[in-house]
Amino acid sequence: MKQSLGEFELIRRYFQRPVQRSPLGVGDDCALLAPAPGMQLAVSSDMLVQGRHFLPDVDPRLLGHKALAVNLSDLAACGARPLAFTLALALPRADAAWCQAFSTGLFELAEAHNCELIGGDTTQGTLNICITVFGEVPSGRALLRSGAQVGDDIWVSGNLGDARLALDVLLRQHMLPAPVLAQARQRLEAPTPRVALGQALRGIANSAIDVSDGLLGDLGHILHASGVGASIDISATRKLLRAGSHPLMSAIATSRLDACTLAGGDDYELCFTAPVAQRANVEATARACQTPVTRIGSIEALPGLRVFGPDGQLMPQRWPGFDHFA
Ligand code: ADP
Ligand code: MG
Repeated sequence: MKQSLGEFELIRRYFQRPVQRSPLGVGDDCALLAPAPGMQLAVSSDMLVQGRHFLPDVDPRLLGHKALAVNLSDLAACGARPLAFTLALALPRADAAWCQAFSTGLFELAEAHNCELIGGDTTQGTLNICITVFGEVPSGRALLRSGAQVGDDIWVSGNLGDARLALDVLLRQHMLPAPVLAQARQRLEAPTPRVALGQALRGIANSAIDVSDGLLGDLGHILHASGVGASIDISATRKLLRAGSHPLMSAIATSRLDACTLAGGDDYELCFTAPVAQRANVEATARACQTPVTRIGSIEALPGLRVFGPDGQLMPQRWPGFDHFA
C-alpha cells in the first residue's frame, strides 16, 4: 500500500536541508538572504510544465537536475555566482518515491554549485516545477544582452543541437543509432549549466545570453538589445552538433541537422561576444573552466542576422526561434 504523505511531512522529508550561507532557510514565512557588501543580487525564475517542457515518463531524478540546471544557466549568462533558490511545486499526488528521486537529482546539482534551497511552495495539481534562483555579482559587472560591440567575435560554449535531435527521436520524427541517442538524450535531460565559465567571462565578454530557445533566436536577443547585427558561419556551427560527427548521421538531411543546431533549443550553453583582442584570453579562460568554446561569427553594424554557408553564400533564413505562443 502506498504510504500517504502530508504536505508538511513531504516538505520536511524531501526539501528541508540545513542552510549554511543563508541566515534562514525552509520553515518560516520567509527565507532570509544577506547579500555581501558591494554585490548585486541576480534573480531569475524558470518554470517547467509537463507536456510543454518534459515528457510525462521522464526520470524524476533527471527532472530535479534539469529544473535547477535551467535556472543556474540564467545566472551563468549574467556572470553571477549561485547562492540560493526557492522551489514552487505542484504535484498530482504525494508520491514518496517520486519526491525522493526528484529531490536527489535536485540536491546533487545544488550541492555541486553550493546553492541552497531556502524556501518554496507545495500544492496539489498538474506537475509543474518553478524555481527562482538568487545569485550574486559584483555591482555593475553583470554580463548583459545589451553590451555587444561592432567587431566583437561571437562565441558559443559546448555543443548545440543534440538536445533537439534527441527530442525529435523521442517524438518519433527520426531514428538515431543507440549510442548517439544516449549521448544526445543526456544533453536533453541533464544539461550542464556553464556556471564557472559565465563568472570567468566577467570583464572579458561584452555581452552574453544562455541558449535555451535556439541559437539564432537567442543571439537575436543580443543583437536587438545591443542595436547591432551579425554574421555567422555555418561551417563553424555544424561542428557544434556532437552527434554530427557520427558516420551514421548521414541518413538525416543536413538541413534538419542545421535546424537542430541553429534553432533547436534546450541547449543551455552560453552565447557571448568579446572583442577580437580578447581571443586568446577567451580561449585560456574556457580551458581553465574545462568548457570548450567555438567562435562562430562576428558582430556587425548592419542590422539583422546573416548565416553564411560553407562556400561563403548567404543562406536563406528559415530557422524560427522557439516561441511558446507562436
Ligand atoms: P506559507 O503558508 O507561510 O506560505 P507554507 O506552509 O507554504 O508557508 O510552507 C512552509 C515552509 O516550507 C515555508 O518556509 C516554505 O518556504 C517551505 N516550503 C514549502 N514548499 C517548499 C518546497 N517545495 N521546497 C522548499 N521549501 C518549501
Ligand atoms: Mg506564510
